Amino acid sequence: MASGKIIDGKAFAAGLRKNVSVEITRLKKDHGLNPGLAVVLVGNDPASAVYVRNKGEQTRESGMQSFEHRLPADTTEANVLSLVESLNLDNSVNGILVQLPLPKQIDAQKVLAAINPDKDVDGFHVTNVGRIWTGGDALAPCTPYGCLLMLKDQLGDLSGKRAIIVGRSNIVGKPMAALLLAENCTVTIAHSRTKDLDQRCRECDIIIAAVGRPEMIRGDWIQPGAIVIDVGINRVEAPEKGLKEDGTPKTKLVGDVDFAEALKVAGAITPVPGGVGPMTIACLLRNTLVATCRQNGIQPPAI
Ligand code: NAP
Repeated sequence: MASGKIIDGKAFAAGLRKNVSVEITRLKKDHGLNPGLAVVLVGNDPASAVYVRNKGEQTRESGMQSFEHRLPADTTEANVLSLVESLNLDNSVNGILVQLPLPKQIDAQKVLAAINPDKDVDGFHVTNVGRIWTGGDALAPCTPYGCLLMLKDQLGDLSGKRAIIVGRSNIVGKPMAALLLAENCTVTIAHSRTKDLDQRCRECDIIIAAVGRPEMIRGDWIQPGAIVIDVGINRVEAPEKGLKEDGTPKTKLVGDVDFAEALKVAGAITPVPGGVGPMTIACLLRNTLVATCRQNGIQPPAI
């Protein structure tokens, strides 16, 4: 019988977006500000186009301005850098996001480094990486920040909790570690060379899975009552759903955690889909709000 609680990321994200839109209304009324988020899409990768469209819609719904800039797949690095520079200088733009991945001819690190760190709402600029580790006014990467908000909602004070993050990428694992350390967790960062990973997980009150391997983390790796945040998004074959028109099995999304097993042991767990995923855009809107406040010398709201 299932004992854990399923964390509803969709509802949680809707709540955060609502809070952002209330604060945007306040910024407009009290300070005459009209925050703007610019998203740059290079090429026509279908998944990226969907992300950019969703970001635009949710930005407008929150009451902010959305600026979309599309460049062809064969554009030059110089063109992308020049667009970023013009957005850095544009006062109506408070946040800049360059949708990754970029085509091969463009050095993504060079483009990310060109974004004004105070407008870097993805939190990938090395200045924000430095700020997040040194306790400065960072813009934190959206996915780990969303995980942190959900954890705090479950546990309240995180001080003294033992947390393991499985995965050490620059976009999820490492910033997640910085955020949890800042909350006074005792943090383990695990990766593909970690020994006895199941035991290391079992020692922890919090497990963040950001691996990209379907259902790798099993129920018996989890301490009873632990909070499990599953960042993984993996598409796997689902023969139980039948066949596609081409005769191959239909597919489904699963996380990095074996959800059915984990639900019997964990105190609470995020599902895939519908857990961490919806939080990412909500946190992007929150970061744009925070960036706008800081750029105008206003204390950002604590959301
Ligand atoms: P990534 O850059 O591929 O990093 C994966 C990490 O997992 C690496 O640090 C790797 O270790 C580690 N790893 C791989 N195999 C392992 C194993 N057998 N045991 C322990 N660790 C292992 O991935 P990412 O970009 O962080 O993304 C992780 C997952 O989150 C993916 O499924 C991605 O789709 C998903 N994601 C979701 C969102 C969202 O909005 N929900 C956002 C971003 C990412 P090494 O460093 O040693 O190679």
